Amino acid sequence: GGRIELVDLCKRYGSNDPPAVDHIDIDIQPGEFITLLGPSGSGKTTTLNMIVGFIAPTSGGIRLNGRDISRLPSHKREFGMVFQNYALFPHLTVAQNVAFPLRERNVSKVETARRVGEALELVDLGGMDKRRPHELSGGQQQRVALARAVVFSPSVLLLDEPLSALDRKLRQSLQREVKRLHRELKLTFVFVTHDQDEAMTLSDRIAIFDRGRIDSLGTPADLYHRP
Ligand code: ADP
Ligand code: ADP
Repeated sequence: GGRIELVDLCKRYGSNDPPAVDHIDIDIQPGEFITLLGPSGSGKTTTLNMIVGFIAPTSGGIRLNGRDISRLPSHKREFGMVFQNYALFPHLTVAQNVAFPLRERNVSKVETARRVGEALELVDLGGMDKRRPHELSGGQQQRVALARAVVFSPSVLLLDEPLSALDRKLRQSLQREVKRLHRELKLTFVFVTHDQDEAMTLSDRIAIFDRGRIDSLGTPADLYHRP
């Protein structure tokens, strides 16, 4: 997994708005599972979108393995991303959805078939390859999105509230799935949620956001079990 350093990172959407992200520093370790936790509007998604390159910082920097990537376009960062609403292509089959990032990268047919098969096995969807998204449950659709996000072997996986649209039971089973993926793939995971229990279950470390700043940063034990 990659090391990501956020260095004095700031984002202001409008010159009259308060900063959405206000001088943030985090040193995310290779292979770490870090969660950005905080209430709605506290700057979590803005931070994630700057890491992946969907929006540019107003000031400050982002480094990947020591190299400044702040000005690198999103597609050159090669990070996997999973969204709350799955964002699958409805007209494509499960296999075609998962194969999509490989087609964009001109990976050969043989190699694509191998990697798509592996990715679908990884999320327990072997045998679902010919289905279309509307034929799947929400949990299964999110597994497809996970497979698509890791199929090109990114060094970092970014997850923006990926389980928040699911009901409680599905959520718990997908939490186990996400944790297993992290263990098996050894990628750096940056996970956004507003759910404290979810953050505690999944994370090596948690960064608690409050109005664009990091209120505290530590392991779940550091943050919540101190006597
Ligand atoms: P969170 O992910 O914690 O809910 P966001 O990063 O989405 O927080 O939002 C942080 C702040 O930035 C909020 O005040 C929000 O209203 C504002 N914001 C987010 N996106 C935009 C945008 N595209 N334009 C203007 N303001 C935005
Ligand atoms: P197409 O007709 O566009 O190739 P497919 O759905 O047959 O559509 O396949 C899409 C991609 O996924 C192809 O690259 C194919 O190699 C791969 N693929 C299809 N089915 C499987 C499968 N069962 N296991 C692994 N890879 C598959």
